[in-house]
Amino acid sequence: MTDIAIIGAGPVGLTLANLLGVRGLSVRVIEKQAQYYDLPRAIHFDGEAMRVFQAAGLAEEVLAHTHVGAGMLFKNADDVVLIDWSRAQDIGPMGWHESYRFHQPGLEDALRRGLDRFTNVELTSGVEVTELVAETGTMRLSNGENLSASYVIGCDGADSFTRAAVGLPLSDLGFQERWLVVDAVLKCPRPDLGDYSIQFCDAENPATYVRGTKDRRRWEIRLNQAKADPDNDAIWALLSRWITPDDADLERAAVYTFRSAVAARWREGPVLIAGDAAHQMPPFMGQGMCAGVRDVANLAWKLDHAISAGDDAILDSYGSERASHVTEFIDLTMRLGKLINQTAAGGAPKGQMKSIWPGLGPGLGERDDVAGRLAPQPRVDDGTLADDAAKGGFYILARTPIEASVPVFTEATDWLSENGVFAVLVRPDGYVFSAARDQAGAADLLGVGRVGL
Ligand SMILES: Cc1cc2nc3c(=O)[nH]c(=O)nc-3n(C[C@H](O)[C@H](O)[C@H](O)COP(=O)(O)OP(=O)(O)OC[C@H]3O[C@@H](n4cnc5c(N)ncnc54)[C@H](O)[C@@H]3O)c2cc1C
Repeated sequence: MTDIAIIGAGPVGLTLANLLGVRGLSVRVIEKQAQYYDLPRAIHFDGEAMRVFQAAGLAEEVLAHTHVGAGMLFKNADDVVLIDWSRAQDIGPMGWHESYRFHQPGLEDALRRGLDRFTNVELTSGVEVTELVAETGTMRLSNGENLSASYVIGCDGADSFTRAAVGLPLSDLGFQERWLVVDAVLKCPRPDLGDYSIQFCDAENPATYVRGTKDRRRWEIRLNQAKADPDNDAIWALLSRWITPDDADLERAAVYTFRSAVAARWREGPVLIAGDAAHQMPPFMGQGMCAGVRDVANLAWKLDHAISAGDDAILDSYGSERASHVTEFIDLTMRLGKLINQTAAGGAPKGQMKSIWPGLGPGLGERDDVAGRLAPQPRVDDGTLADDAAKGGFYILARTPIEASVPVFTEATDWLSENGVFAVLVRPDGYVFSAARDQAGAADLLGVGRVGL
């Protein structure tokens, strides 16, 4: 029997398949589309997502489809900057840059090719999962095949078949707007458009400009709920504020209804959901896919443990840890959506925005201002990034060397001092399992043994 069946080969399902492939589990991915989806969607991911692509062994392949993001400015109709969310241009605490712009078809291609490395992972395209029995994880496929797996992960997007099939309820968080999304390819240099993404905050005509990779530029423009979808001429009329057909060709245009929602439960027996199947948010912070990538980073090592230990109690911590974390991103995104949509012209105070790093909800390990939060990823003495040096397992970051049954690295002393701790035990997904305030408490760090991991 297959260890893990993944329903859906979007960016989240493909990332999970690679993470599990690295861990040697047997995986079958079922994707209903025969041809890959080429519509405009995600364009930004953060350093934490990049850390997950690193864990999947695909850092170089993914980086080839990116450039480092400058950040985002929120401007009012008078062109006054309301919020400046500039991103650092050097390597940050994750071991990667803070913000990347990327071309989603390129990323997905890199993730799909990544699967070719594994004899234990098989991707079947053009086949739909049509039935799923929650109790047994047994599936019926549109090609007539019956597939059984120890665990089934629904990475099948916002209209998730899996979520509906096993009855996992979704809570609507109350955001619903129609936006036109246009990807254009510049025919001539337009440096005046700038490298920053810009949120044009305006009660009448809210819009977003995003500098994509190479010559790609994106505009997102809110549409009146009642009006018909714009045709080509209407799209150019909406874009005329920035570009004309002399400047660029339209690559793709699509109308989306942006929503916000989060699943009330993420697991039913051997069936779990991840990515847009479990949560949705408007794209103003560029965090929807990032949240899905975090889901599967949280899930991959727990699935590995559940299979190898034959005990899957650990999987109960997945939804409880992820739900409150993603809800913080959804809440902030909705607050920013209000600003973008409701700002009147006129002066307004300038402000600086910082990235948020929410802690995990209740689950495995301790929770305080350090435990349950993301640990930095330093380069260790041979220049390797710490997660790689620990080979995807637990490790300790300590101020001085200590005896331990997991690798110990002493290259994050500044961060440990700033946070008032002597050492932390880092989980395979980069979050702090437990923290020791002093050297004496460091022995307790190996509390990892207490939960049988
Ligand atoms: C305009 C826009 C801009 C965005 N910008 C950003 C951004 O900058 N940064 C960011 O992080 N996020 C962004 N997002 C969000 C991001 O695109 C999504 O969160 C992400 O694509 C979700 O990935 P997924 O793999 O969960 O789902 P999907 O990409 O929807 O993939 C689901 C897959 O499951 C397959 N499937 C469905 N049902 C079945 C079935 N029964 N059997 C087999 N296969 C099935 C589908 O065919 C599909 O391939 C944006 C979204 C939009 C709309």
